[in-house]
Amino acid sequence: MRFDVFTLFPGMFVGPFSESIVRRAVDAGLIEIYTHNIRDYATDKHRTTDDYPYGGGGGMVMKPEPIFAAVESVLAGARGIPIVLMSPAGRTFTHAIARELAHYPRVALICGHYEGVDERVRQYLCTDEISIGDYVLTGGELPAMVIIDAVSRLVPGVLPEWAPENESHANGMIEHPHYTRPAEFRGWRVPDVLLSGNHAAIAEWRRLQSELRTRHRRKISS
Ligand code: SAM
Repeated sequence: MRFDVFTLFPGMFVGPFSESIVRRAVDAGLIEIYTHNIRDYATDKHRTTDDYPYGGGGGMVMKPEPIFAAVESVLAGARGIPIVLMSPAGRTFTHAIARELAHYPRVALICGHYEGVDERVRQYLCTDEISIGDYVLTGGELPAMVIIDAVSRLVPGVLPEWAPENESHANGMIEHPHYTRPAEFRGWRVPDVLLSGNHAAIAEWRRLQSELRTRHRRKISS
């Protein structure tokens, strides 16, 4: 799976993707992440990518021309690729949306900054608009990283086969708690059932814990 990220700050992506599972997935050739600097597609002498908002008000708005030029140049000839604008006004990112995106061989993500991007980018270039939650971040870079991380985990081969479908939210449930050695730490004991070796009892305990957690933390009544 390939991710194309359009950003004014490509350096922000270096650290988070140089470690752990995403790094291993890139090294194994399971995913590819390309960052494209929108500024490289600005054509004026000062490589301007933002300007004052029409109608006044504070802050700057990202200009449409370099964003259209960048996306159209990088995706030239490619068809049916989701072009996703990072935006606090978008649909809220969930496991279901991650799964939806993981079906595509290639996804483009556009990161806004400042006051946001010119509305014509959303209207005429993007096919989707995603928020990672109801709060405002400085830029779309962190949301893009969140989406790439969550989607990558669903790409076959990135995680062990059993892992993604057992994790929280994969089937609408929150996962059961985990414990590891020591069996007792500062007087807090691991539940006896997990030490029992009784696999049926362990499975039943985990199922129940998952149900309880989901009900309490997501206020699902049943
Ligand atoms: N003025 C905008 C508003 O009130 O909706 C906020 C702009 S924000 C400071 C700059 C950029 O960060 C946005 O264009 C978007 O790309 C990104 N961003 C901020 N919060 C986000 C969120 N919760 N989810 C996705 N992207 C976000």
